[in-house]
Amino acid sequence: MTSEPVIPDIGASIPAVQIIDPSAARSIDPNARLTRLAGGGSWTEGPVYLAREAAVMYSDIPNDRALAWSDEGGGAEWRRPNDFTNGNTLDREGRIVHCEHGNRRVARTELDGTRHGLVDSYHGKRLNSPNDVVVKSDGTIWFTDPPYGILSDREGYQAPQEQAGCFVFRLDPELGELTVASDAMDHPNGLAFSPAEDRLYVSDTSAEPKPGGNHHIVVFDVIDYRELSDPRVLVEMAPGLPDGLRVDEHGDIWTSAGDGIHLIDPEGRDLARIAVPETTSNCVFGGRDGRRLFITASSSLYVIDVLVQGVGVAAAVARGDDPAGLPGR
Ligand code: MG
Repeated sequence: MTSEPVIPDIGASIPAVQIIDPSAARSIDPNARLTRLAGGGSWTEGPVYLAREAAVMYSDIPNDRALAWSDEGGGAEWRRPNDFTNGNTLDREGRIVHCEHGNRRVARTELDGTRHGLVDSYHGKRLNSPNDVVVKSDGTIWFTDPPYGILSDREGYQAPQEQAGCFVFRLDPELGELTVASDAMDHPNGLAFSPAEDRLYVSDTSAEPKPGGNHHIVVFDVIDYRELSDPRVLVEMAPGLPDGLRVDEHGDIWTSAGDGIHLIDPEGRDLARIAVPETTSNCVFGGRDGRRLFITASSSLYVIDVLVQGVGVAAAVARGDDPAGLPGR
């Protein structure tokens, strides 16, 4: 018999790290503690670290709002209504790119604060409900399009699916060109590139809502900077689902699962776990040195100090690094 995990008070911290492979010692201190920063959400997701505000912004999807937390200001509402936004990331210019369930589109907030849609249809049919997004160092925007925002009114507006499937898309925002990067997945969800951008990791979470569906992470090879090939299952996630994920400077993957964050290596081997007392959806590297891992989990936002930095455009921009130095341009 297992007991329900106890959710700590706001500001309180708890031991959380389980080392599975000794090589994880370079990535996380086994004595690091998990701190609960904020609560009050219904289902939190889509964290992005904003260096200018030294804040992490994240979605509280069923309440149709974005929340933010900073060292100086604590927790606050960032935007409401919020177009039932799910995933958020940064592009090379530091603009926030959003996945909106409500408008079934990918949108962008300019540096002056104005927000507008980038794409909402493919071959004349509405997208399902863009879920999560990553910007490659060449400026292209890669996003997933499962149906979670149109299955009910809880995280968007219930509607029939128009697309023939749930695809991984590649958007060139300069050309306005949208292409299917992969049609090989059932419900693609979180996604992140390897440090050299020669691999793309995409989670498939069709076990929600389909019994017997997928709860794994697929790895693709990236060909010619723009095409995906040779999908293979990297890891089956249990318990729960691998919703959102990030990659660190060693190429290891920090993925959500039902019981917290799992750290796995590029071959899918378990290295360590961070136990989180609520069902966990996603994480993002942030903080002034980029070595804090912010975790969205059901009602709450948590943080834990780690020993590594994230890779990719959003992590570089959040640290104030020049993303022009990234590979794959
Ligand atoms: Mg997601």
